[in-house]
Amino acid sequence: MEGEHVLICVAWPYANGPLHLGHVAGCYLPPDIQARFERAKGNRVLMVSGSDEHGTPITITAEQDGLTPQEVVNKYHEMNKKALLDLGCSWEPNIDPRGIEFGGSLFNRTSDDDHKTKVQGNFKSLYDAGFFESKTTPQFYESYEQGGGRFLPDRYVEGTCPACDSEGARGDQCDSCGATYEALELKNPRSKLSPDAKIEIRDTQHLFYQLNKFQSALEKYSEDRHGVWNSNVRAMTRQQLDAELRPRAVTRDLNWGISIPFDDDEWSGKCVYVWFEAVQGYLTCAQIWSERYANEHPRGESAWENWWRVDEDGNVPRHLYFLGKDNIPFHTIIWPALVMGLNAANSKENEITFQPKPGDLALGYNVPAMHYLLLAGGQFSKSRKHAVWLPSFLEQYDPDTLRYYLSINMPENHDTDFNWPDFVEKVNSELIATYGNFVHRVLTLGHRLDTTSSDPFSTFEQLELKEEKDEVERLFQLATDSLEKHRFKESLRHVMGIAQYGNQLLQNAEPWKYMKNPDDEGYEQSMSSLAFCWRIARCLAIATNPFMPKSSQKLWNLLGHETDVQHQSWYDAIHWAAPRCWNSETPTPLFERLDLNEIMEREQGLIEENSESKEDITHTVKGGKKKKKEEKNMSTIEGIQYIDFETFMSIELKTGVIVKADDHPNADKLYVLNLDDGTDNGRTICAGLKEYYSIQELEGKNVVFVANLQPRPLRGITSEGMILAADDGDGGVSIITLDKSMKPGSKVR
Ligand SMILES: [Zn+2]
Repeated sequence: MEGEHVLICVAWPYANGPLHLGHVAGCYLPPDIQARFERAKGNRVLMVSGSDEHGTPITITAEQDGLTPQEVVNKYHEMNKKALLDLGCSWEPNIDPRGIEFGGSLFNRTSDDDHKTKVQGNFKSLYDAGFFESKTTPQFYESYEQGGGRFLPDRYVEGTCPACDSEGARGDQCDSCGATYEALELKNPRSKLSPDAKIEIRDTQHLFYQLNKFQSALEKYSEDRHGVWNSNVRAMTRQQLDAELRPRAVTRDLNWGISIPFDDDEWSGKCVYVWFEAVQGYLTCAQIWSERYANEHPRGESAWENWWRVDEDGNVPRHLYFLGKDNIPFHTIIWPALVMGLNAANSKENEITFQPKPGDLALGYNVPAMHYLLLAGGQFSKSRKHAVWLPSFLEQYDPDTLRYYLSINMPENHDTDFNWPDFVEKVNSELIATYGNFVHRVLTLGHRLDTTSSDPFSTFEQLELKEEKDEVERLFQLATDSLEKHRFKESLRHVMGIAQYGNQLLQNAEPWKYMKNPDDEGYEQSMSSLAFCWRIARCLAIATNPFMPKSSQKLWNLLGHETDVQHQSWYDAIHWAAPRCWNSETPTPLFERLDLNEIMEREQGLIEENSESKEDITHTVKGGKKKKKEEKNMSTIEGIQYIDFETFMSIELKTGVIVKADDHPNADKLYVLNLDDGTDNGRTICAGLKEYYSIQELEGKNVVFVANLQPRPLRGITSEGMILAADDGDGGVSIITLDKSMKPGSKVR
């Protein structure tokens, strides 16, 4: 259908910390690629998301940092929104430049008053339709000496685990043994934030959403989506449905959130649960966008209905939900159950159905959920301080290199890893060597032809080159088909295949050999191929746009276009008769090469600057796989970072003898040391000791080294470990030597 309405729903980031690369790969980059692709195909795209700003993790951060919850969320909302824009995600402008009827985007927030009002309205509708039930449950309550008190959500309570007697167990769950229990069972309960307050158990009344009423409709919906959802989404949904849905609490005892829209005193001091309201943001955000930006739309404030309601002919707007795999049941069960509830509340008999009728709100078409991107083997997590943060990443690196790396490494079918050496490798030897170099060669060769002409290639398009066009079209179609199926990694591989094919063509045509000799036999063929390579580069500018918008625009301009490449239609990429143009300025490369050593030095420097992020940087520098168990056991207590015994024992320290020391050929501060480590071959270690030791002083020394550090290249030489040395921070450095002579390779404990 021409100009189909597509709603791109992006999981709402929790405003309790900065975004890290795991979030970007899982939730935030894929929808932007999809949105750009859909727009290029001529579809009407509305993209919605925003900061999820309520709930106890935020109030706990606020109380611990001496801030108000609003101050916490203001900080992270701004920071994360800026980072997403810096990454090139199309959250601005809010109105599609093609016109308001083509949609736009809004990155909103759940503390927005209009969101609150709309959620309260939906709450009432669902209540009136009879989908809530009321229950009284016991809950911890702290009372103050001066009078008053408050109910304590589970995260606010600590005590002794009833199962294993561990201290510091939470109100409903023990982190040590994993046991879950009823609040009443926790031993020695106390308030986490005011441990001296008197604590008791009081009854409290709450409303529950009757998910059980939707069980059958959800099962039918899930069967209906069978051929669309991927296997992971199907399996996780099945698992929850098989366990039978139960009523789920929608209210809780907390002030930070959306208040319950009832006047009775009983409901003061209570709010709506985050799960119930944040997920409604997909709907409220579309409505708010329409109220704030769509006054020029033919339907005005009702514009959102084009993206949400089934039209009179039964056409359903296509809803795509992008999220990480931990969030699947929220989008295949809970949110559909709320949408079905709202539709039922709107119908005469409150009938629940999985097939929305004209005028009803649409259910999700697909949930292209991602697996996890891991940081060198451990899962990225905000709470564990184990991450590479998006804002600081973007201060240093070209956003398109990250977009490339995360796309080509996207966790579509299984978890994938981020590590710096792999990032540098993929950028330098794939992105730059294949794509960057190809377009740079074409442009440079063009400039060598005849720079006085307004288009040096124009006279060379003599031969038809049918076979070549077919091949590019074939690859382009493959890339398109993959994008239709949300297979971003596969699609980008096909796009890179086009660049690779261009390189081959150039290599075979050897235009640099023929360009000065028009009388040679192969001249015409060679020059026609070169001219066609300009068209391949033009194709690449359009095809790379969803993935790497910034460099795609740069290429578009280098080719001589003055327009905005994102307004080119998708299939224009293979429109071979498109008018030519030319940019007479000397071309500059699309990307800068990355230097792993510089990156490692910078990351190392960050450790010293910021002890808070010590853990994640150490992980990053090591770059190898790491056992999950080790990270779990690391904890920070009052600024001291403890490691457990097992982690310590995993570091292999050994003795060795420096047999030979040489100057590093490419680095002023480094020596290349040959070490007798007790093995036949010995090992090479690069060490920054030049300022402190002469070669003569080092040779023959008995030293201690880390034997199981992942080998890494240091300016061209692979270093296989690290020599231990003491550093007084004041310019004094001394290597650790042995008191007695020992056999090389002896273990140090
Ligand atoms: Zn326990």
